[in-house]
Amino acid sequence: TLSDKLDSVFKKLRGHGKLTEQHIKETMREIRLVLLEADVNFKVVKSFVSRVGERAAGQEVLKSLTPAQQVIKVVREELAELMGEGEDNSLDLAARPPVPLMLCGLQGAGKTTTCGKLALKMRRDKRNPLLVPADVYRPAAIEQLKTLGRQLNIEVFDSHAGQDPVDICTRAREYAELNGFDTLILDTAGRLHIDEELMGELKRIVANVAPQEILFVADAMTGQDAVTVAKSFDEQLPLTGVVLTKLDGDARGGAALSIRAVTGKPIKLVGMGEKLDALEQFHPDRMAQRILGMGDVLSLIEKAQSAVDEEDAAKMEQALRKDGFTLETFLEQMQMVKKMGSIDSLLKMIPGAGKAMKQAKGMQLPEEELKKIEAIIRSMTKKERLDHKILNGSRRLRIANGSGTRVQDVNQLLKRFVEAQKMMKKMQKMGPKGLKGMLGG
Ligand code: GDP
Ligand code: MG
Repeated sequence: TLSDKLDSVFKKLRGHGKLTEQHIKETMREIRLVLLEADVNFKVVKSFVSRVGERAAGQEVLKSLTPAQQVIKVVREELAELMGEGEDNSLDLAARPPVPLMLCGLQGAGKTTTCGKLALKMRRDKRNPLLVPADVYRPAAIEQLKTLGRQLNIEVFDSHAGQDPVDICTRAREYAELNGFDTLILDTAGRLHIDEELMGELKRIVANVAPQEILFVADAMTGQDAVTVAKSFDEQLPLTGVVLTKLDGDARGGAALSIRAVTGKPIKLVGMGEKLDALEQFHPDRMAQRILGMGDVLSLIEKAQSAVDEEDAAKMEQALRKDGFTLETFLEQMQMVKKMGSIDSLLKMIPGAGKAMKQAKGMQLPEEELKKIEAIIRSMTKKERLDHKILNGSRRLRIANGSGTRVQDVNQLLKRFVEAQKMMKKMQKMGPKGLKGMLGG
């Protein structure tokens, strides 16, 4: 699926600590292919990739300590944009009543169910809807809508198999006008595949009742097929919006992106289950998260943003170069790790978390412990912080008293520090970027 493919693109990306423009280029090329394969319109892909590429190659991203995450964040924002973030996607009911709303789409897409859901929504919005069965080919279809109407206690226009659907809709409109219904919900026929006859019929309904909304109902589970169908419906009917059903399943929503991209019509509603109250407004940003398949990772991104910044790391590197790894740098390091929040929870959020995270995990301390360490180090003189070897017994006692801890705590801290120092030496041998690498840079 689209999501899986994007996922693997990002996995590769996350493997890199520091990103270069070359990485970004490659990533953009892959995202481009993935979108094209998902039948997203060529022009849409082109402008999408160029916008993302431009932002991703920006200094803000490249210089950030978590560039891969920043790139993903950019992709997410642009995806949301592509799906209409910030646009008004509410139903347009501003017309003289009765306002006809028409649902169309292939058989099994969820039209009839959505009609029921929509009727319930209308009533909750203090409107008075009339359900209109215009799928006259299967008696069961009319019966299905009647059953829904009974469940909801909402009237269903009386129609029978074999009647002309255009005639049914026209009469239903007159009936609604006479009987005080302000909204007509037209349940039209579907086919397993698009055919001319069906399209002709739908066009005639449109011409005769002038629906205020013509909503294309698409099954999110059918993925790419839905896109071809959407395109064809959009070419033949003046669609005003899309309803995406069955999003409660494991469809990751790639269809939403593609359908929106090929039709240019807003997704207005989403079906989240078979129950009649399972109809929700569409939120582009949530769908972008879903497509990226990483609701959790997104919260990680938010954390990463407020966490360690480049400046901190640079400062530390400088300090390291000047004095080596001292108690002072040790404390700073602890604080940086603390800023990143609970490393455990961060790790859980990214499946293939980088080695930086794993190493950071080793340095993770409980909050209490960290406070103690901070108190102890702050109780030391500058000279002591720069050279822990001068910390004899009497100095340790003074520091323990000054920090409200015990000499054992001071001893334990020093032991820990010596271990960290050894580790740092190893890392520095690994290269000048050792520290930054360890901290996620
Ligand atoms: P139609 O042929 O387009 O009228 O489709 P139906 O409304 O008869 O729906 C086909 C099937 O999809 C039925 O079994 C519905 O219960 C089911 N369905 C419709 N919408 C949803 C949804 O949002 N979630 C789930 N899980 N099932 C749905
Ligand atoms: Mg139906």
